[in-house]
Amino acid sequence: MDITALDKQLIAEAWTSPDMYPNLETLVDFGSRFAGSPSEAQARDFIQQKFHAYGLKQLHLAPFDYLGWYRGTCGLNIVAPVQRAIDSISLVYSPSTPVGGLRAAIIDVGMGTEKEYAAKKDKLAGKIVMCSSANPEEGRQPHRREKYGRAVDAGAIGFIYARHLPGGLPETGSLRPGRLGEIPAVAISYESGFALKRLIDKGETVVTLDVQNDSHPTVAYHVIGDVPGKTDQVILVGAHYDGHDIAQGAMDDGTGTCMVLELARLFGPLRGQLKRTIRFMGIACEELGVLGSTKYVENNRGKLNDIELMINLDGAVGNGAKGFATSGLDDVESILRKIAKETRYPLKLSEKVVTASDNFPFFMEGIPAIMMTAREENRTLGRGFGHTAMDTLDKVNERDMKECAMVAARVLLRLAEWDKPIARRRTPDEIKAILVSQDLEQPLKAQDKWPF
Ligand SMILES: [Zn+2]
Repeated sequence: MDITALDKQLIAEAWTSPDMYPNLETLVDFGSRFAGSPSEAQARDFIQQKFHAYGLKQLHLAPFDYLGWYRGTCGLNIVAPVQRAIDSISLVYSPSTPVGGLRAAIIDVGMGTEKEYAAKKDKLAGKIVMCSSANPEEGRQPHRREKYGRAVDAGAIGFIYARHLPGGLPETGSLRPGRLGEIPAVAISYESGFALKRLIDKGETVVTLDVQNDSHPTVAYHVIGDVPGKTDQVILVGAHYDGHDIAQGAMDDGTGTCMVLELARLFGPLRGQLKRTIRFMGIACEELGVLGSTKYVENNRGKLNDIELMINLDGAVGNGAKGFATSGLDDVESILRKIAKETRYPLKLSEKVVTASDNFPFFMEGIPAIMMTAREENRTLGRGFGHTAMDTLDKVNERDMKECAMVAARVLLRLAEWDKPIARRRTPDEIKAILVSQDLEQPLKAQDKWPF
């Protein structure tokens, strides 16, 4: 195997790709691909057709049951000291309020950090908690699900999630993994949050909240196909193909889906030639609290021993430094450093365990799992347009897509051909130690995701 020649061939193919951007156009034209929607099914079928066309083998769908959630109506009104309607949307998995709605005063907990909640913990029972999507400039950045969990734990009866960036956009996201939240929750824009906060600072501010959503059991499907190698060792490369129902989900995660498709296109012709098998996976239902990959790991417990490494490509397209969050796995990190040196490409590596995406369930199972990153972390910006209605195709640059695919292809080629084991399984104790070292015990407990 002449790695150098193959490397050049992959780079040329990626840089001149006739498929990568058109695939994204197709995905966003289907619609949001939200779990349970017709556009989700269209995307699933499209990925399967493409995997077939690109020459993947053992092509199959992996179904799983879950609780589907369907957006209904949402009404938020200030009733005192003034009367005013506020635009709002339900957060995903928000339960309905009693018919006719509920009425309570709002308590503002700022960014919703552990400290801010602690300071107001005796004032929250029976109230509606409002917190911002902003995060502190330093230290940990609490996830939306953690902020919500703390409101539930404090006895609040409703939750308002105010975006911290101007532009009139509420920011959606799930409340709990694969199940209804305990209390109704809505998102509002920065401007509405600012107006509410001004009232709250002056005195008691009472609102009514009337939310009606629907939920019932349904089925989703991961799409899986292999580039068979010379051994049974597998590198699993995946990204979620579902989006949020209020948007095109062009960046999150149309681009990640297109990365998986593009790598399938590049590596399909290499079947039978590489040391390891590369398994590609279009992952379903990530936006429901990392539900799909969690179900996959649960449903295949004891059968995933062939997976040596999982690479998550959720959001792996951007104009920042390309690299990986290595989940504190020193063996994988050291190999990636060697690959960076050999390819003379400065991969940006961080030790971070990304807990809110599809690498996480594999990591928790002890399977080495990492995530590709391509955007500079910007705490002020947070998700940017992600999870808003403005996550649309115009935000994506075709050049960035192609560059990210090149980088991923070069790394994947070398990992597939690596002559020693890439990474060893971790024991539950080792996983726990990594999480504790990254200060993740409390946040995961608040999200109901701490198994130890
Ligand atoms: Zn995503």
